[in-house]
Amino acid sequence: MHDLRLEGVAKTYGTVLAVEQVDLHVRAGELVCFLGPSGCGKTTLLRIVAGLETPSAGRVVVDGRDITPLPSHRREFGMVFQSLALFGHLGVGENIAYPLRIRGVPAERRRARVEELLALVRLPGVADRRVTQLSGGQRQRIAIARALAMDPKLLLLDEPLSALDAKLREAMQIELRLLQQRLGITTILVTHDQREAMTMADRIVVMGNHRIQQVGTPLEIYRRPANTFVADFIGTSNLLPARVAGTGVRFAGHPIAVAALPPGLSEGAEATLLVRPEELHVLPAAAPGPNRLPATVAFVRDVGSLVEVHVDCGDTRLVTAGLRKDQPAVAPGDTVQVNLPPEACLVLAA
Ligand code: ATP
Repeated sequence: MHDLRLEGVAKTYGTVLAVEQVDLHVRAGELVCFLGPSGCGKTTLLRIVAGLETPSAGRVVVDGRDITPLPSHRREFGMVFQSLALFGHLGVGENIAYPLRIRGVPAERRRARVEELLALVRLPGVADRRVTQLSGGQRQRIAIARALAMDPKLLLLDEPLSALDAKLREAMQIELRLLQQRLGITTILVTHDQREAMTMADRIVVMGNHRIQQVGTPLEIYRRPANTFVADFIGTSNLLPARVAGTGVRFAGHPIAVAALPPGLSEGAEATLLVRPEELHVLPAAAPGPNRLPATVAFVRDVGSLVEVHVDCGDTRLVTAGLRKDQPAVAPGDTVQVNLPPEACLVLAA
């Protein structure tokens, strides 16, 4: 297994900044997702790892060796792009064997390796078919098999599932993750889909504004976002304008008890209160208690498995999401209470 370090990596195109000062360690056997909105520099960073772009500054280090000057074809990495880049005029087997052929692997060994790889991606016996005779999901597996043909040190995936429909995509995410774990291959996946990142990653690198905003496990990123950018990008968030007051905050004129205040925020400082929708409870009847605020129901969305209730609290709209059977029946216009459990109230610097 192989590990990767990016040390002070930056990239500018003329005056256009693509990536700023990235320091990152991808551990051996780990699947790391680069996640972020369009244009934040994910693809540029992956292409720098792949050797398809030269960084303006910094080093790419694999197993302790600086490979920054090494051209792409000598890095021994497997790659799958959004377009898959399969050769339509070649058969499935020839596609998979292509990297072996250009490296002079004899025909007999190529055939055996193709069968091995087809078994690995659960498509035995399709070597003689044309790529055009396969479904989207099957082509996906062929592209993965081809990327794995040379036993690459690293597997680099740039939005490889984005052309698939939602259901197949989700199935492929799980399949690909299980394959990656079975092989123990160090993998980087670029995606702008946070659900995909949460499904597949050991750790997520959240990127925004051309730099890393946070690195952590999916749960760390969700439960303890480092800033409002991450909180807003990952999952649905209620980000409420608040001010520090004593050991808690004030929001919409109400004192709110919180689990903890971040260091460095003084009394009266502006802050953002983060509460996830599933942590907010709507109570139909008014009852006194801490962190209970009066609100008016604005919108109810029942999607079968859960009910989402949007409520207005002062000038602020809050989204709550409860399990269907646990959610009291409320209708737009109802006056209710929302309960913000203190342990679910996270304070971020504004
Ligand atoms: P997307 O999800 O849309 O692919 P991304 O996060 O992968 O976005 P990049 O493609 O890495 O973002 O681009 C980062 C920034 O660098 C963008 O502002 C982009 O316009 C710019 N950029 C990328 N490639 C080039 C290039 N060859 N020449 C000039 N600017 C570029």
